[in-house]
Amino acid sequence: MTRLFASDLHLDPARPEVTEQFLGLLRNLEGESGSLFLLGDLFEAWLGDDLPGALGETVALALRQLADTGIAIYLMQGNRDVMLGQSFCQAAGALLLEDPCLLEIHGSRVLLTHGDALCTDDRAYQRLRALLRDPDVRRNLLSLPEGQRRALAGEARAGSRAHQSRLSYEVMDVNPAAVEQVLRDADADVLLHGHTHRPGVHRLTVDGRERTRIVLGDWHSGSSVLRWDEQGYRLLEQPR
Ligand code: MN
Repeated sequence: MTRLFASDLHLDPARPEVTEQFLGLLRNLEGESGSLFLLGDLFEAWLGDDLPGALGETVALALRQLADTGIAIYLMQGNRDVMLGQSFCQAAGALLLEDPCLLEIHGSRVLLTHGDALCTDDRAYQRLRALLRDPDVRRNLLSLPEGQRRALAGEARAGSRAHQSRLSYEVMDVNPAAVEQVLRDADADVLLHGHTHRPGVHRLTVDGRERTRIVLGDWHSGSSVLRWDEQGYRLLEQPR
């Protein structure tokens, strides 16, 4: 059984080539047995499941077709598509995962997370993150008309760019103490996340036990997929 993991595709109507590469990956998976995990920021922006747009509808349909062939599909919210919800997952034939989520893979305890919760040095962002996960705030945002939601999403992106330009490289990365804490709390061997767009495999020792942190890359200039089967895992990067 093969498990594929990807995150940070940032699908956007303005960049159809990324969507094409993603749809190509889905087509290649037909006939395989296994599961696909999309660990957040599948979309560059998500206004709500009631406003998927043509791109959201295309992606939901493609995921649904793949799910119908027997591949299990799991979605996690990222920071860009934090408003993604159950309706989209239903349309896509996918299950919505909590963040974080623990999985057992070939005897390893693997903790899946988008990764933004680990960037604890960015306090302002963590306050915003908590706010956008508050059920009342979400309900209020999702009840706004489309134009207002679009305007808010645009402001959020501009604000995020301005905010990030003031932060150092270190502050925008995961905090080592936060990484150790989640590995310890979950009693996990592996932490698998995206968000930072810094793909790699890192070894670390927590409480005398060797652990691994795997970081998925973004799809800005090509695909980044972690493939995990009986032989182990490989982080595969495919240029476009
Ligand atoms: Mn992210």
